[in-house]
Amino acid sequence: MVAELNLLSEWIPEQMSPGTLFVLENAGEVGEQDDPYWAVLACPECGTLGLVTRRQINGFIPVICGSDKCSAQFFMKDDNVVVRRPS
Ligand SMILES: [Zn+2]
Repeated sequence: MVAELNLLSEWIPEQMSPGTLFVLENAGEVGEQDDPYWAVLACPECGTLGLVTRRQINGFIPVICGSDKCSAQFFMKDDNVVVRRPS
């Protein structure tokens, strides 16, 4: 798993390598009103793309990879990926 997030300023799918984050153009406008979708993140473990919410970006709730083949759970803290230890 990569340990650092890499912010992409333009949507270039080929550059969405593991740990790459792209903030949505309509961030905050879709999803739950109190925790809207904010960005697309390529899982730092396997590279599967998934939407992350504002609370996940801010490190309040963990991100759980959506891939069946990957069980990555982690927090986003600033530009870092902090692995969540299974409890
Ligand atoms: Zn994954």
